[in-house]
Amino acid sequence: MVNFVGAGPGAPDLITVRGMELIKNADVIIYAGSLVNAELLKYAKPDCKIYNSAKMTLGEVVAVMEENRNGEIVRLHTGDPSIYGAIREQADELDRLGIEYEVCPGVSSMFGAAAALKAEYTLPGISQSVIVTRMAGRTPVPERESIESFAAHGATMVIFLSAGMLDELSKRLIDGGYKVDSPAAIVYKATWEDEIIVRTTVGELAAVAERHGITKTALITVGGFLGGGYERSRLYDAGFSHGYRKGTE
Ligand code: SAH
Repeated sequence: MVNFVGAGPGAPDLITVRGMELIKNADVIIYAGSLVNAELLKYAKPDCKIYNSAKMTLGEVVAVMEENRNGEIVRLHTGDPSIYGAIREQADELDRLGIEYEVCPGVSSMFGAAAALKAEYTLPGISQSVIVTRMAGRTPVPERESIESFAAHGATMVIFLSAGMLDELSKRLIDGGYKVDSPAAIVYKATWEDEIIVRTTVGELAAVAERHGITKTALITVGGFLGGGYERSRLYDAGFSHGYRKGTE
């Protein structure tokens, strides 16, 4: 049995209770060493076999799973496995081999970053949608999902895997409709001890990242949710009635 487990964004106590139990019971752990906090491995059984997938190919990962198919295997991914986790290709191999698997969700770094910013991505009157995307790197992004086309919505944007391309990101956000002085933030290593939070503007992203030496392990967030104005929610408005509460109007 293989469990794909979300390790959370960094702080070891941000794994789920279920994820922690799976780690404690594992005979084999294959963890994404580039981003998963190695502190989590301290909870493994003393005889648990531990592999760092940063040094392995898909074939090697699947071979370890196949060799240990009768044991409890944890495949530990950073954040939540569903976001840029490359779990589908592993799952398809497991299907082919007839090995069962489950997925245990985790706290994505996009939520670690929102917490670091003490921000709400979906502010009434500002944006009710969150666009999760990335710049094309070695993995291409479909043309219809260009940064410009998303920027045109003016919705909240959370941009992964792009901290090394901020000049181009700024340019494309502005080409799409954001202003040079629209609010943006960079969160480096959200929830880790060396977390850095920088509030800035779309036009300043690259300069600010350079000043802080940030080239990777960062999220870029963009949008009016980082600014001042918004409307209060209807849900907690004293005049508003709903299924659980009678309003004053
Ligand atoms: N599944 C992960 C994302 C994996 S892709 C998740 O849900 O968070 C790796 C990218 O995620 C990094 O390049 C970076 O953009 C982002 N990332 C991962 N952990 C991060 C953290 N603690 N702080 C900021 N960004 C992080």
